[in-house]
Amino acid sequence: MSETAAVARMVRTVREARRWAQVDLAQAAGVSQGFVSKVEKGLLPLTAEYLVAIAEALAVPADLLRVTDSIGGVEVTCLHHRRRSSAMSVKVVRAVEGLTQLTRLSVDGLSEDVNDSRPQLLQLTRMPLAEHGDPSAVAASLRRAWGLPKGPIEDLVGLLESAGVRLVRRDLGTAAQDAVSTWPTDGQPLILLNRDLPPDRERFTLAHEVGHLLMHQLPSDDQEKEANRFAGEFLAPADELEPLLRGLTVRQFAKLADLKMTWKVSMAMLIQRAADLGCVSASQFKTFRIRLNQYGWSKHEPGDLPTETPRHVAGLIAAQLDRHEQDVDAVAGLALMLPEPFRRHYLPLVVDESAAVEVRS
Ligand SMILES: [Zn+2]
Repeated sequence: MSETAAVARMVRTVREARRWAQVDLAQAAGVSQGFVSKVEKGLLPLTAEYLVAIAEALAVPADLLRVTDSIGGVEVTCLHHRRRSSAMSVKVVRAVEGLTQLTRLSVDGLSEDVNDSRPQLLQLTRMPLAEHGDPSAVAASLRRAWGLPKGPIEDLVGLLESAGVRLVRRDLGTAAQDAVSTWPTDGQPLILLNRDLPPDRERFTLAHEVGHLLMHQLPSDDQEKEANRFAGEFLAPADELEPLLRGLTVRQFAKLADLKMTWKVSMAMLIQRAADLGCVSASQFKTFRIRLNQYGWSKHEPGDLPTETPRHVAGLIAAQLDRHEQDVDAVAGLALMLPEPFRRHYLPLVVDESAAVEVRS
C-alpha cells in the first residue's frame, strides 16, 4: 500500500470514528472540504506539514495516520445486520467500525516486544456451519474441543482470554450495539464490548460474538439468530437445561431467578431457551415476555451476577509501563494514541494490579 493510500484510509477511519463530516475536519484543520475529500480519495499526497495539521485536528499522533498495516474491514458482525435493518445510522455504524480498527491497532501496538508468558492452552478455530451442521452443534464442538466440564461456564471472560481472544471494554457511543468483533487474517480475534452492560447481558453478548467469529465470514440473513442459538447452547447446553426447565409454569419466576444465578444467564435467555426446547408453550412464552416487561425487567433484571474483568490488555499495558519506566506518554505512543485519551480510555484498566502478573516484558 502506498503512503498516500495508507494516509487516505487512516484519515477517513479516524474522522469517521469521531463522527465528523469532512467539513468538520476541514474546519478543525484549517483546510477546505475539497482538500479533505481529495486526501481521503488518495488523490493528494500530504506534505509533512499538512499531515501534522490533520493529525492535530483529529487529536491523534501523526504516526497513526502513517500506519500501513492491512487493517481490513471489520468482518461479519451484528453491525451488518443493524445496518440492513436501519436500527443504526450509517454514521454510527462507521464510527463503531472505525473505533474497532483503532482499538485493534492500539492493542497490536501494546503487544509489541512483550512476551505473553501464559501458555495458550485453548485454540479458537473457525467452524463453518456447512461443515458442522447447525449452531448448537458448533457450540457442542467447541465445548468438547476445550474440554469444558458439564455445567455452567463460571468464568467466560477468563476462558476466552486463555484462548487468545482479546477483550476490550469501551464506550461505543451508542446503546444500540453491545459489542463488535473482528478477526484479522494475520492476528488474534478481538471483541470490543460496550461499557456498562449488566454481567448476564455481557456474557450472552460475548458468547454471541464468539458464534460470529466461529461461524460467519460472510453476512447472511440468519446470522443473528444463529449467533444467539450458538450462545444459548454454549452457555447452557440443551441436554442439561431441558430437564431443569421441563414443566416450568409462568408463576415460577423464583425458579428462573435460581437458575439464573447458577447458570449465570439472564432470565430472559432462560425463557427463550425454554421455548426453543419445547419446555413451555407459545402462549406461556408470550405471558413470560409480557410479565418481564410489566416488571421492568426487559432492560435490567434483578439478580446481580459477579462482573468478569478482562485482564489481558491490562497486563500488556502494565508490562509496557514496566519496560518504559512508567512513562505513560511513551506507552500511549505504542498504542498510537495521544497521552490524554490513552490515560482516559486505557489506564483505568490497570488499576487492578493483579493484571500485571499475566504478562512479563
Ligand atoms: Zn450479532
